[in-house]
Amino acid sequence: MHIVAIDQGTTSTRAIVFDEKGAIVASGQREHEQIFPQAGWVEHDAAEIWTNVQAVIDVAVERARVSASDVAAIGITNQRETAIVWDRTTGEPICNAIVWQDTRTQPLIDELAADGGVRRFADLTGLPLATYFSASKIAWILDNVEGARERAERGDLLFGTADTWVLWNLTGGTDGGVHTTDVTNASRTLLMDLRTLDWDDDLLKAFGVPREMLPVIRSSSEVYGTAVGTALDGVPIAGILGDQQAATFGQVAFGVGESKNTYGTGNFLIVNTGEEIVESENGLITTVAYQIGEDAPRYALEGSIAVTGSLVQWLRDNLGIISQAPEIEELALTVEDNGGVYVVPAFSGLFAPYWRPDARGAILGLTRFANKGHIARAALEAVAFQTREVLDAVVADTGVPLKELRVDGGMVGNATLMQFQADVLGVPVIRPAVIETTALGAAYAAGLAVGVWADLDELRAMWREDARWEPAIDEEERERRLARWRKAVTRTFDWVDED
Ligand code: ADP
Repeated sequence: MHIVAIDQGTTSTRAIVFDEKGAIVASGQREHEQIFPQAGWVEHDAAEIWTNVQAVIDVAVERARVSASDVAAIGITNQRETAIVWDRTTGEPICNAIVWQDTRTQPLIDELAADGGVRRFADLTGLPLATYFSASKIAWILDNVEGARERAERGDLLFGTADTWVLWNLTGGTDGGVHTTDVTNASRTLLMDLRTLDWDDDLLKAFGVPREMLPVIRSSSEVYGTAVGTALDGVPIAGILGDQQAATFGQVAFGVGESKNTYGTGNFLIVNTGEEIVESENGLITTVAYQIGEDAPRYALEGSIAVTGSLVQWLRDNLGIISQAPEIEELALTVEDNGGVYVVPAFSGLFAPYWRPDARGAILGLTRFANKGHIARAALEAVAFQTREVLDAVVADTGVPLKELRVDGGMVGNATLMQFQADVLGVPVIRPAVIETTALGAAYAAGLAVGVWADLDELRAMWREDARWEPAIDEEERERRLARWRKAVTRTFDWVDED
């Protein structure tokens, strides 16, 4: 039997066919347009995304030479928070999707935060008030698309994140489409109570979102409905997880204290806190990790780092010292060490754990000796140092020391970076055989629901290590380097003045 994962991401949509051992058989991928109508606005055409979903399913299934009867289930994973509102009767989106990066709703966020601060709903939702989450995006659509609010109150409009949009369309759309989301996606809206796992009336009122338009919240692993049309006609859809949670699931980080760190444009760290809801005192987000059927939900702390892979892009595009991202490794290896050079990529201030919007990026420790190799090396080290500091915040919040770090994402092909990471953390860094952990996690959740795999232990047993980096420096050296890094970070503070 096979499982198909649909990964509806920010820049592209993919379908991946997995076999029973969790190995990739074939895949299809299509990018969609990034629409920037004005500064700070980021949109997608949801209709284009749905067209792409159908296309990539057909490509992947054909390349895998399987038919619908060979596929036990479909899992969905997706870009999180992005808000889509559509007409229940026509199936047409009423405007472009407002993407998670979009900051147009800052005025509404400021207004809500004026009464109680940005942590006003943190106890209930695990989240600070921010434009990032879906709620203010839905409110914006209802307030700015003509007639939308009345139509929503009459029950004519539906809201969904990308998972819900794909599920509704895949299960028939206007003809009986299932209007459902899973707990992980719902936990990113700012509208769900983390404890009851239901939409909260006070939150709905605060954001002015009618309950009628919201999907039913279900677990991350159960049969939601059956695919209608495409090459997967008749196959049950049985798993949904937001992308970072799916990666955590694909990394089989099921135990308390187990974690994964994804190295992409930015980094996303998730640490499983089990059945406990841990409220962060260090600027992390509390979120649902997953829920399997009727089981209790598992929670997590999430930390993100804004600039990691994008620092490599900056060296490529703005400084031109490399022509392709992987070349940074060769360049870094032309020197023995960082030569005392530190790069602090505080391009838009410093996030967790510093929270200094007044900071700006800096290259420090320059001497006549320093060259581009040192800068390349310092840039890779900056990725590792930033990861260490977010992990320190997690340990401070949970009191559970880190035993190892499982990694995935585009930068983990860089062995030099991985060795730095192990050195700076003082624990092993482990890369799995399948680094498509996001799609794998969605496939696992779907396969579990239909009995392809019996339980989490079976999934754990399938996980394969590909490479491991052990710390190669002693504690004293580690502390020395960290102290130097922290000193470099403090030098970036207080750069942007009020005016
Ligand atoms: P995303 O999912 O955020 O689009 P990916 O997981 O595809 O990102 O990772 C791409 C990022 O990783 C880019 O920012 C790129 O600069 C960086 N990258 C890719 N390969 C390497 C490498 N070998 N060394 C360092 N950085 C790399």
